[in-house]
Amino acid sequence: MRIVAIREKTVALSSGVRNASIGFRGMTASALAMVSDVIRDGRPVTGLAFDSVGRYGHGGLLRERFVPRVLAADPEDYAGARGPDPFRIWEIAMRDEKPGGHGERSGAVGLIDAAAWDLAAKLEDKPLWRLLDERFGDGAGERRVPVYASAGHYHEENDVARLAAEMRACVDLGFRTVKIKAGGAPVAEDLRRIDAALDNLGAEAALAVDCNGAMGRSEASAFISAVADRDLAWVEEPVDPLDFEALGALAETAPLPLATGENLFSAADTLNLLRYGGLRPDRDLLQMDISLSYGIVEYLRILDIVEAHGWPRRQCLPHAGHLFAFNVAAGLRLGGHETAPLAAIPPGLEVSDGHARPGDAPGVGFERDPRFAALFADLTG
Ligand code: MG
Repeated sequence: MRIVAIREKTVALSSGVRNASIGFRGMTASALAMVSDVIRDGRPVTGLAFDSVGRYGHGGLLRERFVPRVLAADPEDYAGARGPDPFRIWEIAMRDEKPGGHGERSGAVGLIDAAAWDLAAKLEDKPLWRLLDERFGDGAGERRVPVYASAGHYHEENDVARLAAEMRACVDLGFRTVKIKAGGAPVAEDLRRIDAALDNLGAEAALAVDCNGAMGRSEASAFISAVADRDLAWVEEPVDPLDFEALGALAETAPLPLATGENLFSAADTLNLLRYGGLRPDRDLLQMDISLSYGIVEYLRILDIVEAHGWPRRQCLPHAGHLFAFNVAAGLRLGGHETAPLAAIPPGLEVSDGHARPGDAPGVGFERDPRFAALFADLTG
């Protein structure tokens, strides 16, 4: 099998919402197609990847470094037993890259990795989650995956009314845990939003809050004290994602679970978080984003570190990542999946009682959702 083309494009995801640290008006993401020379039903078997949203597109890095390396490689160099070997493709993409400095490069390589896994699973004619379950999971087959809804961003107009409507919409869609944004307004205003969310979720769903790393240590400490009696599922990114000392200080006394990791992008960063972040394996949550952290090849290294430090996989709750991350959560028995059911490109999951089942579509399963099919049409046609 030869990879004959890798096409990518930047997709605009403009939205008027904000979290505590950024607005989404100029947000972009990359879509990528890895075309093989294997023809089925008259069409080349093609691996697809779409960015996890939040760090903008990766087109420049892909075009200048990572795509040319893979296309220039001898197919023997990435051949596996049953098709392309994503581990070997990863090594080829990362040739001549120094260690450290993971920020944007890890997202570009994550797209190559995701497309390689989608291609590998399609060539084996099985869903990605099943391929991962067989090779790296417990091999027990399909299971229901806990799925939670991320919503409740800060709106420029009618903020609390729109937040309330979003909470009811998420419950109606079958979610039993919903997350809203916090930390981007004075505490009194955030408490109004949190109480409005709790009122509208009622007994049907738990509430988590995401502070997006915008608060300093004392501000975060005051915020956690203010919400301590609200019975929240977790408080996410209360401080800067790399301020492990502040995080550890909060974890010493926080009565609520803490969650972080979506802005760490490597196994090395994860190791530092677990060594120095003071987090508690029995309650806190690790949210490293699979696609933005070099993809599945690196995420398997991350899981090795997580488990070596005494953390169960169920405490891993990866950030975003749509159907791709959902497949990984299903195949590797992670704690669950974050989805954005009210976003511009919703994930195409059928949720009931807070869970979703992975399907039988080969690969990630983008083709089963017309919105993703439309997104990739000009890359695969
Ligand atoms: Mg977050």
